[in-house]
Amino acid sequence: MKAVKKIAITGNIILPDEVLAGGVVLIEGGTIAGVFYNDNALPENDIEFRRCGDAWVAPGLIDVHLHGAAGREVMDASPEGLREIARHQARCGVTGFMPATLTAPIEGIRRTVQSIREAMDLPLESEILGVHLEGPFVSLARKGAQNPNYIKVVERADIDRLADAVSGLKTIITVAPEAGDNLSFISEMAGRGWVVSMGHTDATWQQGLLAIQAGVTHATHLFNAWREFQHREPGGIGAVMDSGDVYAELIPDGIHVHPSFLRLAIARKGKDRICLITDSLKVAGLPDGTYPWGELEIVLTGREVRLKSSGVLAGSVLRLNQGVKNIIDWTGCEVWEAVNMASLNPARNLGLDGRIGSIAQGKAANLAVFDKDFNVIETWLGGKLVSTFRG
Ligand SMILES: [Zn+2]
Repeated sequence: MKAVKKIAITGNIILPDEVLAGGVVLIEGGTIAGVFYNDNALPENDIEFRRCGDAWVAPGLIDVHLHGAAGREVMDASPEGLREIARHQARCGVTGFMPATLTAPIEGIRRTVQSIREAMDLPLESEILGVHLEGPFVSLARKGAQNPNYIKVVERADIDRLADAVSGLKTIITVAPEAGDNLSFISEMAGRGWVVSMGHTDATWQQGLLAIQAGVTHATHLFNAWREFQHREPGGIGAVMDSGDVYAELIPDGIHVHPSFLRLAIARKGKDRICLITDSLKVAGLPDGTYPWGELEIVLTGREVRLKSSGVLAGSVLRLNQGVKNIIDWTGCEVWEAVNMASLNPARNLGLDGRIGSIAQGKAANLAVFDKDFNVIETWLGGKLVSTFRG
C-alpha cells in the first residue's frame, strides 16, 4: 500500500492563543497530523517540506457573509458563478464561506439555495459551508441596500418553504425582530438549528434583548443598517453589546465602521465574539465603474460601493485578509486574536470548530500563508494547494 504523502509547512504558525515562531504544521491525508516547535524531530526523506521562512501560517479564513466577487453574484443562482466566487475567496486566504442571499421573492431565494447545493458538489477552491439568508425579513426603515420591493414580515408559509430549501445546510438567517410578528418566529428558527441573526433592524434596546432571549445568537454587520446607538436609547446595538454570548459581525474596511467603533465593539464584546466579514459584492476584484446588480445598479469608486439611485453604501470590495490586517493595525490586538475573529470564532458560532477554524491536530488542513503585510502567499484546502502567489 502506498503511504500517504506527508507535507510539512514551516513558518510562524498562528495558533488560537499564540504564535509558534519557526514552527511546523504537518499535513497527512488532508488533515493536520501535528504541530511541532521545529523540524528537528521530522525525518526529511519521508516528507515534502514547504519552507515559508518568517511568513505567517494561519488557519484558512472563514467569511460568513458575502454576496459575490469577480463579477459573479450569489443571487444569479449559478453554480459556475459560485465556483468563481470560491476561487476569489481562495485568493484572499479564505477556505470556507457562507454565500449570502439578498431580499428577493422567496422563490428566487429557494432557487439560489438550490444552486448553492449544486455548487457544493463541484470541485471548489474554497469550501461552501452553508447559506446566509439576508432578507427578506428585514426592516424597511433600515433596509440599507436591500431591495424594498421584496421586504416582508415572516409568515408561517415562508418558514416552511425556506426550511425545505435549506434542509441539511448550515444556515444563518438575518431577521429584524421588531417587524410584524417576526419576534414570535425566532425560537422556532433557532430550534431548527439555524443561527438566528439580528440585523437590518430598527429594534429598540428592549426589543433587541427580547430577540436575544428568544434565540438570536448573531448580529449582522453590527452598526450598519441598525437603529442609531444613542446614550438614552442604545437600540439593538446596545442589546448586542450587553449580551456576552451573541456573536457580532463587523466589516473592517474603515468605510462601513469607523476604527474607533471597531475598537469599542471588540472591547465590549470580547475578542472571541467578533466575526470579521467582507459583505463583498460582485464588483470585488473589478475596475471602477457602474454595474447592474439585480434590479438595481451599483457604482464602484476605489474601495467604496454605493447604490447608484440613492448613494447608500452597498456592501464592500474588501478582501478578508486585508480586513485581518486592518484589525491588527487599528486595534493593536495580537495577530492570533485578529485571525481568530476570521476563523475560529465564525467556526464556533456555526458549530464547525471541531473540524475547521484553527490549526490543531485532527482538523482539516485548511491553511493560509501570509506575508508580513497579510498578502496571500498560498492557500491550502484539505491538504491541497489551491492558490499560490509564489514566484
Ligand atoms: Zn450583506
